[in-house]
Amino acid sequence: MTPNKKTNIAIFVPHAGCPHLCSFCDQKAISGSVKTPSADEVWELLKTQAQSLEERGILAEIAFFGGSFTAIERGYMESLLMIASRAMKKFPVYTGIRCSTRPDCVDEIIVGVLKKYGVTAVELGAQSMSDEVLEANDRGHSAEDVRKAAALIRQSGIELGLQMMTGLYLDTPERCLYTADEFIKLYPKTVRIYPTVILKNTRLGELFTSGEYKSFSFEKTVDLCAVLLRKFTEKGVRVIRLGLHASPDVERNMLGGVYHPALREIVESRIFLEDLKGRLLNMPKGKYLVYTDPKNLSKAIGQKKNNINALAELGYEIEFKPRAGVYIWII
Ligand code: SF4
Repeated sequence: MTPNKKTNIAIFVPHAGCPHLCSFCDQKAISGSVKTPSADEVWELLKTQAQSLEERGILAEIAFFGGSFTAIERGYMESLLMIASRAMKKFPVYTGIRCSTRPDCVDEIIVGVLKKYGVTAVELGAQSMSDEVLEANDRGHSAEDVRKAAALIRQSGIELGLQMMTGLYLDTPERCLYTADEFIKLYPKTVRIYPTVILKNTRLGELFTSGEYKSFSFEKTVDLCAVLLRKFTEKGVRVIRLGLHASPDVERNMLGGVYHPALREIVESRIFLEDLKGRLLNMPKGKYLVYTDPKNLSKAIGQKKNNINALAELGYEIEFKPRAGVYIWII
């Protein structure tokens, strides 16, 4: 069978080695795991998964997420990388190794180690390019650290990924847009956008409970993420994640913020609505038939028919019909 799909085998290395405690972070809740995996356990996991991936015709990257991977104890980090590298050689379903880390935990030596074991992508948890926001959220690094780390990664030939958060303490939509513009200047291949989820047992949680901090509303976040998604896509940067993965741990531990398992679909639906409005508003109010590719239909209609209702309020009664290869065709 020819493998045609791609996924990640995510290996969480929770909080290990992290020299900070960011305002929003409770790694235990985010990773859903408190156990640090041994190299042997990782090997067993990769071996078992390889067989299942092969049977299903799926390729995968081995992904070390959850903590500050390059800041963990060097011997342990290398033991995990060695296992991943061995798995890549033995099981052809594995096409790469990726890890996520902090911008201030990357230097020439670390990048050399990552190259040695065949790491193919590094994602930097940058979160914001506003130094005020970084400082207010106890990140312990600056925007300049992000620029330096990004340059080192790109120069080494390793793929660069950047992660940003929206709605942190002292954040504003303007600062988020600035972050996106600064990211684009660093030529990342991929970006992840995480609207802030406020968790128990964090400083952000305390600030939220005391009333000192208010998170962005759901609507404001959807509007903002629609602009961010469009901005990155137009510049050829792939947004590989929008919103935290659905997780019972997060649901149990969240105090507030923006969390929705279908956030990306909602944001894409908002983009479709804006595009359609842009065309309809030049036309007289009334009934219209709108064709769009079948893959866009649910986004076009919107969750709970949101888009249809929003357009009806503006005086446009819309019926959507599928037509392959069409984005928006109004009749
Ligand atoms: S650097 Fe990452 S792992 Fe460490 S506290 Fe901050 S968010 Fe959590």
